[in-house]
Amino acid sequence: MGREEPSEERETGTLGEITADEQLQPSFPDRPSPDPERRERKAAEQAAEAPNREHDTRERSARTSQSRVKAEAEPYLRDYYTDADDRMVCQVCRQEMPFRRKDGKHYFERVEAFALSREYKANYLALCPVCAAKYNEFIVHGENGARDELRKAFAAGGALETPVRLGQEEAAIRFVEPHAIDLRAAIGNESRSASKGQ
Ligand SMILES: [Zn+2]
Repeated sequence: MGREEPSEERETGTLGEITADEQLQPSFPDRPSPDPERRERKAAEQAAEAPNREHDTRERSARTSQSRVKAEAEPYLRDYYTDADDRMVCQVCRQEMPFRRKDGKHYFERVEAFALSREYKANYLALCPVCAAKYNEFIVHGENGARDELRKAFAAGGALETPVRLGQEEAAIRFVEPHAIDLRAAIGNESRSASKGQ
């Protein structure tokens, strides 16, 4: 195989392209304490005054139905997104989940895809921690309507892939077929229940 020459006509500023600057590791901040001994004294004083952890037993409403269905989503997603070589992949970046838990299984996050009125295990995505954080930031807590728009786009398309914008990043959520069918059925059930209720 021939060695690849670095491309001369590399465009700069293209979306999604990794520039030379981004490939550099950031330098770890160098912030020496001007007077370490004084700092040590002050820190000990402050630590001694730190408040105790307190727990309150206030009653608050908890979504009890969620924990059961979210628990069911764990084996459901693990099964669908693990390949024949026992490597579990993220539905957005499609990379292998970054680490395994103490029990040897891949760690992954179950993120609720859309805001639906009933609990469906299919309404969870199997995401790596970074994609989960991005989904929460830009979709769950994103601009008004971002999550609803995504739900409509997913429901309307029959494809296994739905484009999603995560901040500056144009990405896509990829589904295995049974999961896509189950989730579209859940969304369809929502609209039926909504029209019946009116
Ligand atoms: Zn990911």
